[in-house]
Amino acid sequence: MSTALIDGKAIAAGLRARIAEASGALRAKALKPGLAVVLVGDDPASHVYVRNKGIAAREVGFESFEFRLPADASENALLSRIAALNADPSVHGILVQMPVPPQISSQKVIAAIDPEKDVDGLHPLNSGKLLSGINSEAQGLVPCTPLGAMMLLRSVRPRLTGLRAVVIGRSNLVGKPVAQLLLQADCTVTMAHSRTDALPDLCRQADILVAAVGRPLMVRGGWIKHGAIVIDVGMNRIEAGAGKTRLVGDVAFDEVIGIAGAVTPVPGGVGPMTIACLLRNTLFAACAQANVPAPAL
Ligand code: NAP
Repeated sequence: MSTALIDGKAIAAGLRARIAEASGALRAKALKPGLAVVLVGDDPASHVYVRNKGIAAREVGFESFEFRLPADASENALLSRIAALNADPSVHGILVQMPVPPQISSQKVIAAIDPEKDVDGLHPLNSGKLLSGINSEAQGLVPCTPLGAMMLLRSVRPRLTGLRAVVIGRSNLVGKPVAQLLLQADCTVTMAHSRTDALPDLCRQADILVAAVGRPLMVRGGWIKHGAIVIDVGMNRIEAGAGKTRLVGDVAFDEVIGIAGAVTPVPGGVGPMTIACLLRNTLFAACAQANVPAPAL
């Protein structure tokens, strides 16, 4: 069987181009979406993520705001910053780069963001709306990586009704929301985690397999049903010899080629979709706050 590669880079570029076009149309209505990203501490990887989000926002014509707090900033200092952004009408989306230092509760921070500006889609109100179907692939603020994973899936199989999906991982960030979106798409969904028995057998039943674990190359070729669609969310850095590292997913990519119907590579699969979906959420948030219909993307 030939395995199709799902090109997340190209699909994300297409989505960003459509967002840029929609953003241009909004400017004609005097609405410029604004995205604020807050970073606490000096983790080098987080600095790169924040910078990239700012660049991506400006590229599609959004206003970009960046706030950096020192690693020893208090929880109150961060909550005050969030309160100020909640009150600022030029800011439509707020993202606090995770993880935050240990003296700060991430749950408190997420809950402090105005749900209408919660472009990560992680506020308890937005999680509840996803659970009840009010937030979906089509509307509302949905966590970015799961939304991107669904778009990649739809790129090879627009209609998912009746398919069996197995999601490995049950985090609030990825596993749980992706399972909800698959359920909304009428899949029969099984969620697996570190206590799941006979995981390979379970995976072999999956028409759609989503791996969101954080364990390099854990999913082996023998776990894959012939023709299955494999979405690899994992991003793991491993030694590549000569003091170098390389990025790999949770799926042993080389082993699934020839068995899976389609697979996302790492890098170049789900990763690029995450920022594109953050821009989608910011656009939707700006439209909702300005009472303007959200564009079809
Ligand atoms: P997480 O919060 O650490 O959750 C990992 C999940 O995997 C947990 O539910 C855990 O089960 C499960 N798990 C761990 N070991 C397992 C095993 N041996 N068998 C089955 N399940 C196991 O991680 P996350 O935030 O969801 O992220 C998952 C991966 O996606 C990471 O590699 C992360 O870097 C990547 N990621 C990528 C993007 C992107 O933009 N591409 C975005 C976010 C995350 P328990 O609940 O039982 O502990």
